[in-house]
Amino acid sequence: MSEIKQVDVLIGGQGAAAFAAGLYSSRYQVNTLIAGEQFGGETATGGMIENYPGQPDMDGFDLMMKFKEQVDKLETPTAYSNLKSATKNGDVFRVVLDDGTEIDAISVILAVGRERRKLMLPNEEKWTGNGVSYCSTCDAPLYRNKAAAAVVGGGNAAVEGAVLLAKYAADVYLIYRRGELTRPEPILLKVLEQTKNVHVLFNTEVSELLGSDEAGLTGIGLSKPWEGQDELTIDGLFVEAGADPRLEIPNQLGLEINPNTGEVHVDKGLHTSVEGIYAAGDLTDGTELKQTVTAAAQGAIAALSAYQHVMEVKSGWQEEAEASAPASVSGD
Ligand SMILES: Cc1cc2nc3c(=O)[nH]c(=O)nc-3n(C[C@H](O)[C@H](O)[C@H](O)COP(=O)(O)OP(=O)(O)OC[C@H]3O[C@@H](n4cnc5c(N)ncnc54)[C@H](O)[C@@H]3O)c2cc1C
Repeated sequence: MSEIKQVDVLIGGQGAAAFAAGLYSSRYQVNTLIAGEQFGGETATGGMIENYPGQPDMDGFDLMMKFKEQVDKLETPTAYSNLKSATKNGDVFRVVLDDGTEIDAISVILAVGRERRKLMLPNEEKWTGNGVSYCSTCDAPLYRNKAAAAVVGGGNAAVEGAVLLAKYAADVYLIYRRGELTRPEPILLKVLEQTKNVHVLFNTEVSELLGSDEAGLTGIGLSKPWEGQDELTIDGLFVEAGADPRLEIPNQLGLEINPNTGEVHVDKGLHTSVEGIYAAGDLTDGTELKQTVTAAAQGAIAALSAYQHVMEVKSGWQEEAEASAPASVSGD
């Protein structure tokens, strides 16, 4: 049987919240491990980050490399495997990673972010990367000189994606199930209005993905005809329909979930409803503003709370050890 690793603080994730937590935790000089399969999180794949204070106009991947370099300087180890399961085991949490590694941690900081929403249509998974994408900022340049692409969604990411794609593809269809775009920032809506090769299809959903396994996606079916057509021939489909918090591990641990947002409920110290478990970043209801800067700030605060818990548990162990030690014989 393989040995169970013992750490003070285990951090799940490799995004802004996780690296900031790792940085602060290591500086508190507690034994810290970061565990996550994929480097950088959404910041690394989100394209240019123009609003991270002190780092104007920085590519998100490069920004996350800076986060990582700062953590690496403190020799904080990283396990390149996701958290698979977590259970409470006395004063510690037993966490198992996808690669089978077992870890006992006194505090766990969950910084596992959110999962992009899918359309749940046949062939969607099979053609992901072959015509279907969930990140327009990452994949838009692949559609240079292509005839057409479509974006599904009605928030900032969908509008930004459509405007960006319009620089590459001749025609872009923005497909939204409601009758009006109310969520995007006004400045983005203005740019959209000025981008003449984006066609907005309101009250419409993608009903079907068309294509073949050899060619990948070649078109989509529409729930409502557009200019007399109920199918569109396109080269790429970008699903920008929002994201849901990753709740597998929070649910295993029985953490309280905010019923209004579906996010892990935290207080201002990023404590969850279970002592010893903290959550930071896009996963939580700590702030409405889901950004790299807020994720990093939450990671730092969670590290302080996790550190305080480690100190408390260890001093309890110390007291127990002293109480159970045989009384010393004094005198001669
Ligand atoms: C297209 C796009 C553009 C954006 N642009 C900006 C911007 O310009 N400025 C800005 O400030 N913000 C921007 N954001 C938002 C920003 O990227 C997020 O707010 C930020 O990434 C949240 O950080 P996080 O660490 O909470 O989560 P994430 O960055 O999502 O990181 C979560 C990490 O957890 C890992 N993980 C998942 N499951 C597990 C598991 N079971 N075990 C361990 N690890 C796991 C993931 O692989 C990932 O590494 C953008 C987001 C998107 C999608």
